[in-house]
Amino acid sequence: MELIKLDCPTGLQKKLSESEYGYAKKLLEIVGVDEEPIAYFTTMKVGVHWKPTCGIVLPSGRYRFAKAVLKGIHGNLITGLFFGYPICCINYFLGVRNNRDVKIDQRTNGYLQCPECSKLPPEEVIAGINSRRVCHSPFPIDRDESDIMHRWYYAATTDFTEYCKE
Ligand SMILES: [Zn+2]
Repeated sequence: MELIKLDCPTGLQKKLSESEYGYAKKLLEIVGVDEEPIAYFTTMKVGVHWKPTCGIVLPSGRYRFAKAVLKGIHGNLITGLFFGYPICCINYFLGVRNNRDVKIDQRTNGYLQCPECSKLPPEEVIAGINSRRVCHSPFPIDRDESDIMHRWYYAATTDFTEYCKE
């Protein structure tokens, strides 16, 4: 895990909850930075495209945590696992996400079922998601960026090698 300084002076600053503050402190310890977390922030960053960006506010500036690159692993896979989605559905999502013909139901906050899981009773799928879920909020709450420190902490402390492609 490394801490990357961002050039985003604008953006809404929000208070870290007690648990998020705890994850922020642990992350700073991992990267060896002795600063007090002030808040987290969200903003739109202009690059080639407008991109939603969020990060941590420290006395010395705004930063994001980044996991040292894992060969063949996609950030969306880590996010999908954090939210407890079945690996079959995550892989299906990664395969079709750039296909404009596949519509992602916004009511399920972006969860796209693979053809096999879509045949299962919804209660069964949801129970499975919630049993694997790392995120503290139950399905379908997953658009809340307020658990960003928890997500980064999960990425920093979990071994994803079994999901890495050669
Ligand atoms: Zn599936």
